[in-house]
Amino acid sequence: MEEEVSLLVEAGRKMGARNWVPATSGNLSVRREGTPTRYLISASGGSKSELTTEDFLLFEVGLRRLDARAAKSSAETAVHDLLYARYAPGAILHGHPLFATMVAQRFVNEGKVTVTGWELIKAMGFWGEGDVLTLPIVPNHGDIPTLAQAVLDASRPDVGAVLVAGHGVYAWGARVADAMRHLEAVEYLSQVIWEHLRLDGNWPG
Ligand SMILES: [Zn+2]
Repeated sequence: MEEEVSLLVEAGRKMGARNWVPATSGNLSVRREGTPTRYLISASGGSKSELTTEDFLLFEVGLRRLDARAAKSSAETAVHDLLYARYAPGAILHGHPLFATMVAQRFVNEGKVTVTGWELIKAMGFWGEGDVLTLPIVPNHGDIPTLAQAVLDASRPDVGAVLVAGHGVYAWGARVADAMRHLEAVEYLSQVIWEHLRLDGNWPG
């Protein structure tokens, strides 16, 4: 358990160094080894780039909190909870990286943005020549249970990420490193898309 939490602390530090969790935003979680339904998630408040191993709360899918700590849980735990219930990933990282957040806002009416012909779609598991990566996009919702359901409904079994318009990204994977790879790829590809939009006024997909 200590090792899993240390990986999350390190992930938060990396996300902070890239300004992906500004102003105490973001939340990070890891599934407890040996159980498909229990996970540790960062508590509410505080910079996610300065987490310690004490800053995580234990939950059971169904939003049942199992620890006895005083720290307040994040409302966005509800999003992680539904993703664990459906996919049982090893880890989920949520941040507010700028380009993905802007791209999501730009394409929210389409509900997705597609990417083909860019090497880095391999980081999302698309290795074939001509493969098309489809990144799901949902509108932001102030009501977190509504947001959680929207993220779940838009999510695809073949893509470990959902973008939220004007808000950020939920990325997941079999391990913390996989979730981080997905988050990094989404932000890189989003910057590619954004630069295309700036220079050409369109994105060929
Ligand atoms: Zn957020």
